[in-house]
Amino acid sequence: MTKRVAIIGAGMAGLAAARVLRDAGAACTVFDKSRGLGGRMATRRTGDFSFDHGAQYFTARGPRFRAAVDAWRAAGDAATWFEDAIVGAPGMTAPARAMAAGLETVTGCEVKSLSRDARGWSLHADDQSHEGFAAVIVATPAPQTVPLLASGGVSFPELACVRYAPCLALMLAFNGPVAFAGESLRLEHGPIAWIARDSSKPGRAEGAQTFVVHAGPDWSRAHIDETPEAILEKLQPFALDLIGADSAPGFAAAHRWRYALVEQAAGLPCLWDARAGVGACGDYCLGPRVEAAFDSGEAMAQAVLESWSAHVPA
Ligand SMILES: Cc1cc2nc3c(=O)[nH]c(=O)nc-3n(C[C@H](O)[C@H](O)[C@H](O)COP(=O)(O)OP(=O)(O)OC[C@H]3O[C@@H](n4cnc5c(N)ncnc54)[C@H](O)[C@@H]3O)c2cc1C
Repeated sequence: MTKRVAIIGAGMAGLAAARVLRDAGAACTVFDKSRGLGGRMATRRTGDFSFDHGAQYFTARGPRFRAAVDAWRAAGDAATWFEDAIVGAPGMTAPARAMAAGLETVTGCEVKSLSRDARGWSLHADDQSHEGFAAVIVATPAPQTVPLLASGGVSFPELACVRYAPCLALMLAFNGPVAFAGESLRLEHGPIAWIARDSSKPGRAEGAQTFVVHAGPDWSRAHIDETPEAILEKLQPFALDLIGADSAPGFAAAHRWRYALVEQAAGLPCLWDARAGVGACGDYCLGPRVEAAFDSGEAMAQAVLESWSAHVPA
């Protein structure tokens, strides 16, 4: 009988796990609380502008991820930005949308808890439950994974050491000229750690010059609980200085990433409780990179398949 698997989180890790399981014959449903797919590989569209305000680019080192990237490139879903920096095209969510093709996805669904009965695992959201899963994979950032697992009576002690740095992001669009030259700038000192001329990425719409600005971890930690408006007001002057704009931006907004970059990883590819039929994966298993999330998701799927073929009793 076809086994049904619920995957919570439609970021790179959850989608990578779902694809391997689907290819092996499982019936996967991927749930995400956001309206879109991709998680921190995010694109914000607003009016005429779009911004990759989360992950900026990715590199591909291992053979499995390189093969996936080659397929996205061939289909026009990814392209080289500069040197070995690859981006989704026309936005950072494009690879996730390509990966989700043919998968059942349920977006706008925040899973609040898990439970198990004789028919298998159930996922509970505010307004609905989804029942009858042989296995559940939680592919959300570690601090969101722990309470979800606990609601189903599962815990992985390895998650206790995981730490993330937050990141406060600005999105700025200019209709007039700016002095900033090149694609991006990484800074060692001051509140800002990274500026990208988003509109210099391949496949972006012609027109305004758009920028994404990331505050460094110290500044982000100090201001993470402030409103986006307050963050914008404090960070924007530093950004305008570095961008060298003649006039005020035509669009400006801030975004808070509470769990942005993994600072301390769990140090193993994934977590799997074969008896419970519950696993966890994500970038936090291996490191602060899109490729780490992909590798963790694929390792998760392999762990599930191996335990099914070993007939571990539930
Ligand atoms: C500002 C920033 C800059 C970055 N820069 C880079 C970079 O340049 N290069 C690079 O390689 N990496 C970068 N990263 C890291 C990269 O984005 C991540 O490593 C990777 O995308 C993580 O994928 P994931 O699937 O593990 O998690 P996520 O992408 O976070 O996916 C988790 C998903 O779970 C969903 N979710 C959470 N809770 C629930 C729930 N209860 N119910 C349903 N859904 C839920 C979320 O909505 C999300 O879609 C950056 C990240 C940020 C934020």
